[in-house]
Amino acid sequence: MCWKKISEWLKPVPIKPVPKLTIPHPEEAQDNSGELVDLEHVRDVWMIVWHVKASSPMKTVELVFDPNSPYPAYTIGRKIVFQPSWANPGVLMHEICHISWSLLTDKQQTQFGILHDQLKGTDPYMKLLYSINTYGLTNHIEGHAEIGRYLGQFMPEILKPFYPCLYDSEGGQSH
Ligand SMILES: [Zn+2]
Repeated sequence: MCWKKISEWLKPVPIKPVPKLTIPHPEEAQDNSGELVDLEHVRDVWMIVWHVKASSPMKTVELVFDPNSPYPAYTIGRKIVFQPSWANPGVLMHEICHISWSLLTDKQQTQFGILHDQLKGTDPYMKLLYSINTYGLTNHIEGHAEIGRYLGQFMPEILKPFYPCLYDSEGGQSH
């Protein structure tokens, strides 16, 4: 055994740089141009970017404008109402998640809440999201919508069954 060999072993192992984690679907800026976007185009972009299966029943949700809406967007049944400046794919996904949530049983909603509480402190993407934007910590319904909106298909696999018609095995693709 020569000393040269041993000194080779003692060299520090180079640490590979870890790629910096970023939010998969960052927030779109408010559009104050005053022009109305094509809501069907918003829907098409949403389905592609969030990996929603073309056969998802969510693609038939009605999308409308209301310039006098008190909120950027809201959902009634299967209709989503947008202030024109907030009609973008991310806001659409947040609202669609509320429809998906309404399809869960009480028991599933409770189960999601337990997992959300656990994963927000352990999942790297959820930790990153909540270090930037805490709106999803308001309650589990908003948490469900914010995880769908900002993480989409990159959410923890264990949460996907809680997104009926989006990422569950019935209504959406899960990759
Ligand atoms: Zn919401």
